[in-house]
Amino acid sequence: MRTPVDDYLADVLTRCRDNTDGALADYIPELACVDPSLLAAAVCMADGTIYAAGDVDHRFTIQSMSKPFVYALALRDLGEREVAARVGVEPSGDAFNQLSLGRDGRPRNPMINAGAIAVHSLIGGPDASDAERSRRILDGISAFAGRRLDVDDAVFESEFETSFRNRGIANMLRSVGVITQEPRDVVREYTRQCAIRVSVRDLAVMAVTLAMGGVNPRTRERVVPAWVCRQVLSVMMTCGMYDAAGDWMTSVGIPAKSGVSGGVLGALPGHVGLAAFSPKVDDHGHSVRGVRIFERLSRDLSLHLMEVQEARVRILQSSGEVELRDGTARHVQLRGALYFGSVERLLRELDDIPPGDALVVDLTEVAHINPIGRRMLLDAMARLGEGRRLVLVDPSGRLRNPRETGLDLDVVRKIADEQ
Ligand code: GLN
Repeated sequence: MRTPVDDYLADVLTRCRDNTDGALADYIPELACVDPSLLAAAVCMADGTIYAAGDVDHRFTIQSMSKPFVYALALRDLGEREVAARVGVEPSGDAFNQLSLGRDGRPRNPMINAGAIAVHSLIGGPDASDAERSRRILDGISAFAGRRLDVDDAVFESEFETSFRNRGIANMLRSVGVITQEPRDVVREYTRQCAIRVSVRDLAVMAVTLAMGGVNPRTRERVVPAWVCRQVLSVMMTCGMYDAAGDWMTSVGIPAKSGVSGGVLGALPGHVGLAAFSPKVDDHGHSVRGVRIFERLSRDLSLHLMEVQEARVRILQSSGEVELRDGTARHVQLRGALYFGSVERLLRELDDIPPGDALVVDLTEVAHINPIGRRMLLDAMARLGEGRRLVLVDPSGRLRNPRETGLDLDVVRKIADEQ
């Protein structure tokens, strides 16, 4: 069945197709041969459903879009402290290929080449061979994509032969001890990392895996822990678009990363993974049409992180009285998501219910609850239950994980027994 989302995506591409601004990234000779009219976009939902339009099966090299994923693998394998010893998290405000270090001698962040080359060198530890490092990276990025990826050898060789600037960066890093291996070898394998081939579908799946706390929703594999995703998305938001990060934050507001091949990917936490592709890039190295596509998606689908979300838990209007075996009770039916802001408001509303009235609190329609929402609601249930009959209807067991809440088990049992 063709859905409104498919039609919408096709429409977005039609509206962006006329824009022929930008230029092919010809500093990599092989990229100068790409068809500039290629255009594609994909969206991957939290449950792994993919929508895609345009040249959806066209493969292109991942380039700098590999950087957040290799940063994620380094964080997973070495821990935050060891990675932070080699690379910072501050926006540099410079171009991606700037030969620059922060005042503390570390590259400023892992999204510019200096930081990405440093992070690349960490994979597998100091004793890993070049082949081992590359294999781990290909395996890791493939796990994010949920399928076996490969390397475009023509782009790899073409870029490596002309990688004078990246060799300059690696030599600088070696001179201050940020990398310990032979700089030329590090640049060769970093260039191979950038030449991994992906489609927009792959990028959307990779993005949603970051957005969903590290579990690929299509393969159900946990690729990285949730804390890693929080760290990576934060750095993508502040540094992913280099010296255009402020423009991107205001106009799109989605943690993102671009690559000079013409791809852009974005990950909205807990919600969706997005990808766009069109080869002509602007002065920052971002796909011109890719940026336009993201601006539209963000605006049309209300995806900007700073957009005010309504308080998302409601007591259903229809909530009235329910018959219990021994009398009637007030029916409080909740709908929406339970988190700090929404439960706080809910608790104040529940406070208005006169003491003594029997209550049925019904969670059947609750879509989502996070640990603090659960903890606050359990605490409120315990208080509400004092001096009245309280029944909790919780068919999906959303409040049942007492260990996670740190609450007295008796409170939970008391509530559960009433059901
Ligand atoms: N491989 C490219 C480089 O190192 C990646 C740059 C990019 O995509 N912005 O120059």
